[in-house]
Amino acid sequence: MKAEFEKKNDLLSLSYKELSAFVREKLQAPAYRADQIAGWIRKGTSFSEMKNLPGPLRAALEENARLSYPQVEKKYVSALDGTVKFLYRLYDGQMVESVVMKYEHGHSICLSTQAGCRMGCRFCASTIGGRVRNLTAGEILGEILVAERELSLRISNLVLMGIGEPLDNYENVIRFLRLVNEKKGLNIGFRHISLSTCGLVDRIRSLAEEDMPLTLSISLHAADDATRSEIMPINKRYGLDALLSACRDYFDATGRRISFEYTLIAGKNDSLSDARKLARLLKGYFGSRPFHVNLIPVNEVTESGFRQGDRASVRRFCEELSGCGVNATVRRTLGADINASCGQLRHKALHKTGEKLSENAGPESTGVFSMTEDSSN
Ligand code: SAH
Repeated sequence: MKAEFEKKNDLLSLSYKELSAFVREKLQAPAYRADQIAGWIRKGTSFSEMKNLPGPLRAALEENARLSYPQVEKKYVSALDGTVKFLYRLYDGQMVESVVMKYEHGHSICLSTQAGCRMGCRFCASTIGGRVRNLTAGEILGEILVAERELSLRISNLVLMGIGEPLDNYENVIRFLRLVNEKKGLNIGFRHISLSTCGLVDRIRSLAEEDMPLTLSISLHAADDATRSEIMPINKRYGLDALLSACRDYFDATGRRISFEYTLIAGKNDSLSDARKLARLLKGYFGSRPFHVNLIPVNEVTESGFRQGDRASVRRFCEELSGCGVNATVRRTLGADINASCGQLRHKALHKTGEKLSENAGPESTGVFSMTEDSSN
């Protein structure tokens, strides 16, 4: 059943041009049918709902193509701020999460790019079971289409900050970014998209050459190599010097201001001298170039043992940075009552059933030293 499904053409992963070629060559249908199908796909509809297509064409689609929309396994709506979190089930039983948030200027969605993660950051729930597989471009797109359909709204901003390391699924993520940016796709400008990474330096350098002016968000979390390596294994492969040089070059190539995420962990990286060290480090690399620091009190994932400091210490850290001339804010918490932080629901579901959410071989072990060049695209 699964193998049968995988053999079919994954329509959501196709560009408009590729979809047109498929309609013309494989389905032997006239060109305007591609426009109709693309229109239906944007609305998140199934083949049987594509009412303006003739029956035989719908049957040919069923036979030759598939639509990789995720299924809504659970949907949580925050009573505090209306944030909505979806726990999605993919066609093979894998689970991922997306979160829809309302801002002044529209709706934003936080997207997952992998089922699990192999980066091994010690504070993060997404990485606990390792990475099971990459999502296809169409599956990532499907997270948006299903959320829009479920909530009857349009999403204008994307953040790739859900489960997974987007740059560890580079080709699918780049394809996805081009799909959403297409005029006949969702037509979302690159300036409305942020990509968050723990710091795969080679891929940050490749990204700078893609001609996509995205906002790059770096999960920094520490101001020295010893602390960063302790909480983020990736730092042993790409240290702060390599990372921050790549960030500076990214800004010089794209003109896009870099955003640094800094999770405050009590007693680990949240002292005032840590704040001063962080300011010195970033100003050292960036000089007069603009950048921004986003402070996030750590979400207490049971396994990590990491704890939040009190609110006053978070505020003092932020003020110390500002005092050193660094543009810093404390991230607004949305969906605090629905476990909106990434990985928490998937982890819970995994924990509850006591089994891995997969029919595949087990998840790859966690930690960058088990990384191989992507084989699961
Ligand atoms: N792999 C990417 C994107 C996913 S994580 C990355 O590392 O950036 C999204 C953000 O949430 C990252 O900044 C990550 O460091 C942060 N994060 C993960 N677990 C967290 C936790 N328990 N508390 C606070 N922030 C966390």
